[in-house]
Amino acid sequence: MDQFNFYMPTRILFGKGALSKLRKQRMPGKRALIVISSGKSTRSNGYLARVEEELASAGVETFVFDQILANPVVANVEAGAAAAREHQCDFVVGLGGGSSIDAAKSIATMATNEGKYWDYIFGGTGGGQKMKCDPLPLIAIPTTAGTGTEADPWTVISNEETQEKMAFGNDKTFPVIAIVDPDLMLTVPPQFTAYQGFDALFHSTEGYIATKANFMSDLFALRAIESVGRNLAAAYQDGSNEAAREQVAFGSTLSGVVMCVGSTTSEHALEHPMSAHHSDLPHGAGLIMISIAYYTHFIKHAPQLRERFIDMARAMGKLDASDPMDFITVLTDLQKTCGVYDLKMSDYGIRREELPAYVKDAKATMAGAFRMDHVALSDEDCLAIYEASYR
Ligand SMILES: [Zn+2]
Repeated sequence: MDQFNFYMPTRILFGKGALSKLRKQRMPGKRALIVISSGKSTRSNGYLARVEEELASAGVETFVFDQILANPVVANVEAGAAAAREHQCDFVVGLGGGSSIDAAKSIATMATNEGKYWDYIFGGTGGGQKMKCDPLPLIAIPTTAGTGTEADPWTVISNEETQEKMAFGNDKTFPVIAIVDPDLMLTVPPQFTAYQGFDALFHSTEGYIATKANFMSDLFALRAIESVGRNLAAAYQDGSNEAAREQVAFGSTLSGVVMCVGSTTSEHALEHPMSAHHSDLPHGAGLIMISIAYYTHFIKHAPQLRERFIDMARAMGKLDASDPMDFITVLTDLQKTCGVYDLKMSDYGIRREELPAYVKDAKATMAGAFRMDHVALSDEDCLAIYEASYR
């Protein structure tokens, strides 16, 4: 019999022009730390100025913290938390890609809690302490469609000393408001549209084959797979295609909800060591590299997922799918269309000799994700997936 536990307290304002509705929302405080990346685009595209204007109209004083790396690290979190305390901020706004919003969640947590961020991480070398104080409230404003972090409690931060990349989150780290405005995504370059879009897709394809899948997560996952799977190519080919951007944004947000009521599987666990050790590697690109070998393994070894793979192939647009391998066909075609089928680990400095250590890392840092697999992946299976994916 089916079971689920669904908690999603975020107010989501979705749609073209949603950002201009921010000023009318009930603000969670009066002094906001706006967290953005260390890159130029949030400023040069005018998004920061627009958010500052919205908040000023709502009577909020703002401070900007602009040091978040593409793969955010503990030092970013601790410096951001110090800035929040210094300016006596009473809420945080995460503006940008998943890295800025994830970092904003972690900053909101450390702005109110003593000690080091890693003290509160469970698993790996984390201290496993319980958070004593509630984090500052968070508003999330994504400018990319990929992580779904605006609609879930999760944040992923890398420890630059131990090269671990680990998740954190609980009922208190959901954004209070998420503004999902596809207009803010029109400027994402094609390559990153693809990386991020595949990340969104995999949150839901993993969610759909996870042992934790349920009536509620299936509902969101299949619609997300449809929205992303059928529209990502169009968004990649023409970034100004508003209808495609809207669908991919919707799919990404739905995939966040999948991670509230369902879970990702070990595909995410296997990717994290890759981008933890090679911070130039975008998370979505790492997932793409291992995806074909990963899903092929489950098609071969988990016959109970047969119908689920057929469902996913149909959702992605192959309406006559009748075999689980049709999912691999449609996934491969989409990767080819989006110019990401030939991504090489070696281009990001990953050496074949590193792969056995990644197996150990993946299991140490994300043991929970492996428990979501319908068939247990042995160390040999994990290594075989990495090896088959290595180019
Ligand atoms: Zn992801």
